[in-house]
Amino acid sequence: AKDDGKGVVRRFDPSRFAETAQRRKDENDLRRALAECQFEVHYQPIVDLQGNYTVGVEALVRWRHPLRGLLSPGDFIDLTESLGLMHRLGLWVLREACVQAVQWQREHPGFKLNVNLSATQLASPELTDEIRTVLTDTGMPADLLVLELTESAALTDLTESARVLDSLKSLGVRIALDDFGTGFSSLSHLGALPVDVVKIDKSFVQAMQETTANGSVAEAVLHIARTFNLSPVAEGVEDEVQAEMLRELACTQAQGYHFAKPMPASELTGLLTRQTTK
Ligand code: C2E
Ligand code: CA
Ligand code: CA
Ligand code: CA
Repeated sequence: AKDDGKGVVRRFDPSRFAETAQRRKDENDLRRALAECQFEVHYQPIVDLQGNYTVGVEALVRWRHPLRGLLSPGDFIDLTESLGLMHRLGLWVLREACVQAVQWQREHPGFKLNVNLSATQLASPELTDEIRTVLTDTGMPADLLVLELTESAALTDLTESARVLDSLKSLGVRIALDDFGTGFSSLSHLGALPVDVVKIDKSFVQAMQETTANGSVAEAVLHIARTFNLSPVAEGVEDEVQAEMLRELACTQAQGYHFAKPMPASELTGLLTRQTTK
C-alpha cells in the first residue's frame, strides 16, 4: 500500500491493473486492425413489405479478428470512438460499401445503400467534402445513398445539425434518422431537420404484440412519419406476425432477421440473383 500524501492509502489493485493492461492490448489490436484492414462490411437487406423484395441494404461493419473471430460493432465501436479512430473507420466503410453497391446497381438499377454515420463524423468540418470525394471516386449515384444517423447524434445541437445536414443534402444524398422513437422528447424538433427517412427502432417493433403502452409507439411513430412526410423503415422485424402488423399500419419498408440477417457481399449477390428486385 502507498500513501498518496493526502492521508488516503491506495492499495495496488490487481484487477484494475489487469483492466488497464487489457485496454492497452485492445488499443494495439485495433490500431493494427485498421492498418492491416481486418474490417469487412456486411449487408442486411431492406425489403418492400408489400412485395417482399429487396430494395437496398444497410452496410454494417464487422471486425475479422485474427484470434477472436468475427466481431460485431458492439464489441469495438466504443473503443474505436474513444481512440478517435471512428471517423477513419466510418469513411472506410462508406467507400467500401459504395464500390460494392455500384456493382449491384449494374444488375439492379435503383438499388439503395444505407451507411451509418457516427456523431464524431457528423462533427467533422471535412465530412461533406470527404463524402463528395467518395461519390466521385466510386461513381455511386448520390440519390441512392442514404446516410443514417441516430436521433441522439442529430438532436444535441439542432442548429448545427441542420447546417451539417443541409450541407450533406446539397450533395444529393438522403438522410435517415436511426433508432427513431428512442429520443421521444425531441420529436417536436423533427420539422427543423432536413430528414427523408425514419428507421423505427426495433424495441417498438418488438413491443407491437404486447398490450402495453409501448406497443402503440410503433403506430404513433408511423403516424408522425406520415405527418412530416418521411418514409418509414421498420427495424428488427423477426417474424411474420410483426411484418403483417406493420403492413396493416401501412409501413412500406422493413429490415430484420425475418427477411435476412446481415451477410457478406458475396452472399448478398447470390440472394439478389435468386430473388426479384425492383
Ligand atoms: P443499427 O444501425 O441500429 O443497426 C441495426 C442492428 O440491428 C445491427 O446490429 C443488425 O445486425 C441488428 N439487427 C438486424 N435485424 C435484427 C433483428 O431482426 N433483430 C435484432 N435483435 N437485431 C437485428 P449490428 O450489426 O451489431 O450493429 C450494431 C450497431 O452498430 C448499429 O445499430 C450501428 O449503430 C452501429 N454500426 C454498425 N456499423 C456501423 C458503421 O459502419 N458506422 C457506425 N458509425 N456505426 C455502425
Ligand atoms: Ca443504422
Ligand atoms: Ca437502428
Ligand atoms: Ca441501434
